[in-house]
Amino acid sequence: MASENSLRGVIAVDGPAGAGKSTVALRLAERLGGVRLDTGAIYRTVALLASERGVDWDDGASLARLAAEMELRFVAAEGGQRVVVDGRDVSEAIRTPEMSRGASTVSQHGELREALMEVQRGFGAHGLVVAEGRDMGTTVFPDALVKLFLTASPEI
Ligand code: C5P
Repeated sequence: MASENSLRGVIAVDGPAGAGKSTVALRLAERLGGVRLDTGAIYRTVALLASERGVDWDDGASLARLAAEMELRFVAAEGGQRVVVDGRDVSEAIRTPEMSRGASTVSQHGELREALMEVQRGFGAHGLVVAEGRDMGTTVFPDALVKLFLTASPEI
């Protein structure tokens, strides 16, 4: 992932589901000339690959192996970022209710979270990255330039 800006480092955007993390991360990345790292999409991709390959969503060790071996890229495109794994565009396939459930299930495994920490830090090593999702400021990027924690009531 490349950045057009001379600013380098990570802006971490954390907070509960539905607080507006994606929107804020996207706008910030656009405004600052960085790239958004959608970490939810990474968990969703692991869930998808696991279901395609017959790996149980509760098998933490196998999920971690799968995560370490996958080759994941975010590709800038008209209408938003595409998610490409092992050369295949899975942007739509990871957005089904089934993969929402899968991401939520696989994300509970410490072994997978550990493996994905490396993956996420790899993305964070280039240019300006706005990293969005649980644990961003606390665990994955403790040295982030800026840490944001968003909350909002459902009405807002
Ligand atoms: O944000 P999104 O709905 O795409 O995330 C899918 C699921 O992945 C979340 O419900 C959460 O369980 C998990 N997740 C996580 N840690 C992150 C990002 C997502 O556990 N940093």
